[in-house]
Amino acid sequence: MALPEVAVLSLGGTISSTQTEGGSGVAPSLTGEALVEDVPEISEVAEVSAESFRQVPGSELTLEDLIELATEIEGRIDEGATGVVVTQGTDTIEETCFVLDLLVDRDAPVVVTGAMRNPTLPGAEGPANLLASVRVATGEAARGLGAVVVLNDEIHAARFVQKTHTSNPATFRSPLVGPVGYVFEDNVRIVTRPVGRRHIELPEETRDHPVALYTVGLGDDGRLLEQIGRLGYEGLVIEAFGVGHVPSVMAEPLESLANEMPVVLASRTGSGEVHRETYGFTGSESDLLERGLISAGMLDGPKARLFLSLLLRSEASREEVAEAFEHPFGT
Ligand code: ASP
Repeated sequence: MALPEVAVLSLGGTISSTQTEGGSGVAPSLTGEALVEDVPEISEVAEVSAESFRQVPGSELTLEDLIELATEIEGRIDEGATGVVVTQGTDTIEETCFVLDLLVDRDAPVVVTGAMRNPTLPGAEGPANLLASVRVATGEAARGLGAVVVLNDEIHAARFVQKTHTSNPATFRSPLVGPVGYVFEDNVRIVTRPVGRRHIELPEETRDHPVALYTVGLGDDGRLLEQIGRLGYEGLVIEAFGVGHVPSVMAEPLESLANEMPVVLASRTGSGEVHRETYGFTGSESDLLERGLISAGMLDGPKARLFLSLLLRSEASREEVAEAFEHPFGT
């Protein structure tokens, strides 16, 4: 029987990083083809075509790269791939996965994976992660799930997944709800499915609409806020304390900014919904929403930033942006 076709697109990252000549540490060097060749078991699971789409650390990827990648993925699926696996640096995996979830308008599985230990280290887990990802990409189980992250035999939905540890191979977690499934032996088990989905359609030509991400700290006087407009930002995501609080001194500057551009209120805790009407002091969540800020809802700061960036690129009006944050996945 013919094996399912899977496209592997590698972007670099630790999974592909080896000692470079004359270099003082490891850097992305292995091609997509080399990553796949290193795992002979893959050829029993799928017919894989591998390609190096980029070869950079996760920190070098840009939204332009991901927009191009989303188009490439749709093309591979339309040409017959059952699913697509993207390998990349774990530093930005949750962001890539979220962007692909929003941009790739197909039901075929899109899996993003990487490794925490590079191939020169004992216990390097890149090959195991790649094999597990190919299994997820070939199966019916993950169809229609949107983009997922597969590492450490767990499957995480794009909207929830976060990198939570600098070096632990179990770094990827979904603190709000847990993983949506797992891989065991050669099986893929999906145990829960995220409700709703959003597709953002971008015009053929888009331009960057820079969005700043600002984390509030204790005693912050907000002086950086004055610079946001001057620096050319067209949107701001503010990672506030707890359920959505900032020092009172920041409330007015945030209100002025919200009159000029979309200002989104997220929580620096990274998990849980921003509240709406629990606290009533200056700088509280209800005060800030009253002043025109838009709630990030369940989205953490980095995801809210990407969501806003893509909405602005899609030419969404201010009302459409507010509505999209109100119902990010249509429910
Ligand atoms: N530590 C990162 C990784 O796990 C490095 C990167 O993002 O390129 O791949």
